[in-house]
Order: sequence, then C-alpha cells, then structure tokens
Amino acid sequence: MVVEVIINSNVKNLNRTFDYNVPNNLEESVRIGRRVLVPFGNMKNEQEGYIIGIKDKSDYKIKDVNKILLDNFIDENKIELAKLMARKYFCNISDCIKLMLPPGTTGKNMLTRVKEKSSRFVYLLKTEDEINDDIENKIIKSDKQKRILNFLLDNDEVTAVELENFVDASNSNLKTLEKNGYIEFIEKQVERNPFLNKDIKTTENLKLTDEQERAFNSVNLCLQTNRYDEFLIYGITGSGKTEIYLQLIGETIKKEKTSIVLVPEISLTPQMVERFIARFGQDKIAILHSKLSVGERYDQWKKIEKDENIKIVIGARSAIFAPVKKLGLIIIDEEHDTSYKADSKPQYNAKEIAKYLGKSNNCPVVLGSATPDITTFYNATKGNIKLITLTKRANNSSLPEVEIIDLKNELAQGNRSMFSRRLLTEIENNLKNKRQTILFLNRRGYSTFVMCRDCGYTVKCNKCNVSMTYHIESNRLKCHYCGYERKNLSVCPECNSKNIKYFGTGTEKLEAEIRKIFPTASTIRMDVDTVTKKNSHELILDKFKNENIDILIGTQMVVKGHHFPNVTLVGVIAADSSLFIDDFRSNERTFQLLTQVSGRAGRENSDGRVIIQTYNPDNFAIECSKLQNYSMFYQEEIKYREMLKFPPFCDIIKIDISDFSLNQTKKISTQIYEKLTAQNTDNRMSIYKPMPSPVDKIKERYRWRILIRCIFSNAIIDRINNSINDIKSNSARVSIDVNPNNMK
Ligand code: ADP
Ligand code: ZN
Ligand code: ZN
Repeated sequence: MVVEVIINSNVKNLNRTFDYNVPNNLEESVRIGRRVLVPFGNMKNEQEGYIIGIKDKSDYKIKDVNKILLDNFIDENKIELAKLMARKYFCNISDCIKLMLPPGTTGKNMLTRVKEKSSRFVYLLKTEDEINDDIENKIIKSDKQKRILNFLLDNDEVTAVELENFVDASNSNLKTLEKNGYIEFIEKQVERNPFLNKDIKTTENLKLTDEQERAFNSVNLCLQTNRYDEFLIYGITGSGKTEIYLQLIGETIKKEKTSIVLVPEISLTPQMVERFIARFGQDKIAILHSKLSVGERYDQWKKIEKDENIKIVIGARSAIFAPVKKLGLIIIDEEHDTSYKADSKPQYNAKEIAKYLGKSNNCPVVLGSATPDITTFYNATKGNIKLITLTKRANNSSLPEVEIIDLKNELAQGNRSMFSRRLLTEIENNLKNKRQTILFLNRRGYSTFVMCRDCGYTVKCNKCNVSMTYHIESNRLKCHYCGYERKNLSVCPECNSKNIKYFGTGTEKLEAEIRKIFPTASTIRMDVDTVTKKNSHELILDKFKNENIDILIGTQMVVKGHHFPNVTLVGVIAADSSLFIDDFRSNERTFQLLTQVSGRAGRENSDGRVIIQTYNPDNFAIECSKLQNYSMFYQEEIKYREMLKFPPFCDIIKIDISDFSLNQTKKISTQIYEKLTAQNTDNRMSIYKPMPSPVDKIKERYRWRILIRCIFSNAIIDRINNSINDIKSNSARVSIDVNPNNMK
C-alpha cells in the first residue's frame, strides 16, 4: 500500500504530495486525514505529514512511513476543503490542515497538562518573516529551537509548561531563545472559566415579534428540510437578532445537530456567552477563545470532538473549523466585521468557508448585522442571499440622538482645542449627573509625528519608512509598525535646533487634555498600549463598568462588546481620521464605525447622546451615520462602487512583494508583472504596474505591490501561479491576498 503525504511545512515547493510505502504492519492504521512521521530528503529528523490519498503503487522509488499517529487526525471530507483553500488562498495545504487540527497539535503526542493558577506565558518578540529569515540564514540552527518558534508562530497564548508538553521544550532551550531576543516570559493568571460557580438565571424563549417570527420561520423551514441556503438578517442593534439565533439553535438541538456561532474576536465577552448559557446550559457549549491558553483550547476542541452533549460552538473566525460531527446551523454575527477575513496566511474568509460547509452539510448559514458589508448586502438585493429585515427595536428602547459638530466653525471662532464647546458642555453635564462618557479617537499615542520647526526634520523609524509616534508616559518615540522604540528628541539631529514640535493627536494626549480640563473626573484608557499581554481589554472594560469611572477613552476597541447601562454620552473626537485613508472602503468603514460607536450610548436610557466632531460634515458617510440610516448609505455607496468598478463589481487581488534590497524587490515585481501581462491577451485582468506599497519599508524589508482587478476565477488563479512559481530568491516574500481587508 502506498500513501500520498503532504509534508507539514510552509515551504512553497513542498506544497505537493509525496508517495510513501506503508509497511504491512501499519496498513491497518491507514486513514485519510491521519498524521504520519516520515523520513524526508536529507533532513536529520523525521518530518510530520498528513495522509491525503491512498493507492496501490507508486511510479517512484519510495521510502517507508515510519509511524502513523492515531490521535488528532482530521475528517476525510475536510481534506477536500483544505485542498480547495490552498488553491483559492494561495497557501500550502498543510497551512490549511493545521486550522482543522486541535490547537497545538504537533508530531509529539500531548501529555497531561498541569493546571496552574498562574503560569509563565511565552511570547514571541519577532515576526514570522524575521524568524523565517533567521532560519534560512542559519542563525537559528537547532531543530528544537525551530520547533519551539514554529509552535509559537502557529499558536497564541502558550505557557512554558505547554511548550514542554507539546514540543518537548526544556528550560534551557527557552532560556537560550530568551537570551537571543526571540521570546519573552510573562507571568499571568490563567484565564479561568468565568462561568464556573456563577449563578446564571435560565431564560425561556421570548414570544417573537411579528418581524422576528417571519425571520425565524424562513430560516427554520430550511433547517427542518435539511437544505443549504444563505440568509442575511439585517436589523438595527436591539432589533432582536440574537433572540432569533437562540431560537434557531434551539430547533437545531431538537434535531440533535450542532450549531457553530461566530462572533468577532473582541465581542466574545462573558456577557455575550452568558446569554447562550442562560438559554441552553453550560454543558452544551464549547467556547474557542483566543485568550485561553493553547492547552485549554485543545481541551475545548477535544470536547467538541468527543462529547456528544456539545451542541453549540461559540468562537471567533477559526471556530468555523471546529470538528463538529452533525453540523446543523452556522451563524455569523456582526458579519461585516473585518476579523472574519484572516490577514496572514492562510488568508481565508470565514464567510466563504461557512458557505462551503453549509452546502456540504445541507444546513443554513445565517449572517447578521446592523450595518452589513456592502458586498453582502449587494448579494442580498440580487437574491443570492435571502434578505430578512428587522426594522423595529424588540424592546422598544430608543436610538440615541446624534449631533454633528463642524470643527471648521470652531476653528473660525478661535477654538483651537480638540474639543468643541458643545462636547465640553455635555461632558460637564454628564459628570454632574454621575453618568458615564465614552470618548473615541482612532489613533493611539500622544502625537502622531515629531518635527523640527526650523528645518522640517521628522523622526522616522530606522527599519520602516514611517514617522514615529511620541508616547508621553514612557517619554519615548515608538514605531507602530515594528515596535522599535527610541529616546525622545530634545535637539534636532540635523540642525541642532531645540524647536521641536509635536503634531497630531492620539488617545494619550486626549486623556491628558481631559485630565487638565476636568481634574476631578476619573478616566481610563483603552488602546493597544494599555491592552497588553497581561491586561486584557475585558479587564479594562470591567473596571470602567464596575467602578463607575467617569470617562473611557479609547480607539476602536471600545466600539464592540460590552453593554454599559450608565453610558449616556459618546463623543467622537475626529470622525475624519478613518475617512481619507487610501482605500475604496473608507466610507463603509467610517459609517460602520460611527454607527457602532453611537450604539454604545443610551442603550437603556432615553437620554443617550452622540456628538461627532468632524471637518467634513457634508461627507455622506457621516451624514448617514447621523441619521443612522444604512439603506441611504448603501444606495449612495453602491452607485460609487459601480461607477468606479470596485467590489462587489469586481475582485481586487493584491500581490505583495518584499525583500531586503530595493533592487531585488523591484526586479521580482517587474518579473511577476511581465508574466501576468503576457498571459492577459484576453484582457480579463486589469493589472496595475508594480508600485511601492503605501508603507514601502517595514522591518528592513522593502515592500512593493501589484494590484489586479478582475472577476476572480480558476483561470485567474492559474495565471497568478504561473507568474510567481519560478521566483529564484530565498529572501523574497510574495504574498497574495484576494479582496484584502485593507490596502495598507
Ligand atoms: P440584537 O441582537 O439585534 O442587538 P437582541 O436579541 O439582543 O437584539 O435584543 C435586544 C433586547 O430586546 C434584548 O434585551 C432582548 O432580550 C430583547 N428582546 C428580543 N426579542 C424580544 C421579544 N420578542 N420580546 C421581548 N424582548 C425581546
Ligand atoms: Zn532641525
Ligand atoms: Zn519600525
């Protein structure tokens, strides 16, 4: 017997099957989807691989399989999906298979883990590119170190004990990696099951409103007849979408099937999960949360695989691959959220995977949003997705009042501060009335760039072509792309002038200004700088809520998740910051963001107010978000997309090329461009000439890009593959993203 094996490696030319002979005594254990250990090339250690085909004989002279691992295999039908994904998302099959295996699965079997209250977590200090470069350049030689680093690249939230169990890492291995600057240790509490011993009141199905009932019925019909169909439930926040999900899940359980519920990473809060527990009880629910350590995620995964009782899997993007046996329903809440599309390899879109799984399992896929993705809504208007609209709030609470303040007027009247007079008055009122306020600004740090007033010198990162941000707390300059830090300037290195000026505003400065104006108010800040490996956004939000802190200041992290009954005022400091980034989706993002921020105000009280400050009060995304009118926004936006031939009227493919030398980057880009052009005799693709990326150097790699507009298809995949297959450079990286989240 011969098996076709995919080697577990991200090296591109290993993305094909290799034949191995199966010794007689192992034949019994052969199954598609099982893991094997095999000798490979002249590598010292045996390699891990996956069986993806079985046949009688091979045309080649082949070696024997060393071992077939019996635990942690994947379903045969998922192999098919992995193959499709590898092609569609331009990555290796093994990258896709990894998503379908229990978290942390490697060649070595899993040992029992020690449950600790507090653990030493291990975090990487280098990026995937940097590590791969160091491996290629033989700076990292030891196989053990490679395994540890690869394990850390593949898995978030890993403890030292887990590293020992999963990849046999010894203390001295870890110490060496720490000394050489690859990893750091952080001691922290292990995230405990927050629901344990918590008294959660059970809830019964609510009597659905007419609108909800109609929505429920159309999905339920599909569910009862075991058919695939895709639905969009489009309804403002509070219109009762979640209640519909809950009742559909109830029906799915009656059919003894399992539901997968995807929510954006950041909304996977205890409050959200509690609603599911309250209805169905804890025993039926598995949660795949990225804040759990890898071992705990492994346990949840195994529970889904083995425990017949599990009927609901709730998780972020990757939970779509959970090993449920009888899949009956897929729900994707806040379907417009960008976190459903992966930004790094494999760059898959969970909504596309959901569709595939819905079809192959004959079950409905339900998308829900108050501000649907433009492409989703377009497909719904075309009838490709069934549109279900909820127009009323289920509990009759009212939407907050939104006011737009034109900052140009403020300036004209001599107000140069970042606060309009109106916003200050309202903050003051809120403080007086002991109500809470959220202030939102989509930029972190203190000031966005530092410039010498005399000669115009600005401080840029050594490794990236971006200006560095001043952080007042540490009195240092930071690069937001690579994390590089340096001392702040007091003298200009070019002209020795002391006339250094700070431009732009970030959340740090916003907080400082608020403290100046309202010295007695309590404030708390949430952004990438305060949300650290130790300090989760959850903790900050809990503190804000439980200690009744007056003002929460934050970046877009504050937008999602929690429900704050005492928040009655939301202030958007500058609505423009997200508008003019060079991206065809900037209006869509602005509208979504503003609508969501507004949703934070007055969810229970009738006196919710939102104040949006902007220099562009006439921009239609801002106007529509004032009216909280998605359909008006959609009508405008879709016209503009059609006129300019942007998605959904075409697909955009971004090919990113990077290398350490600018010349090499250009050369490879040109080579790819010429090959693409040569195949484009039918003009099916519009190919743009290679150009430097908006940030054209990050971490010492020059970055160029080629954009293609086309209707994405198998033929296009072939052309792209033909153009990149024979690049001869070890240091060059080419990555291909179809309909990327952003054009950065
Ligand atoms: P969404 O998910 O659209 O934001 P929810 O399902 O969370 O909406 O509903 C908003 C609020 O309305 C919740 O407090 C919920 O309990 C309540 N609610 C939902 N459906 C009903 C109903 N049919 N009758 C009474 N209250 C409802
Ligand atoms: Zn100067
Ligand atoms: Zn940098």
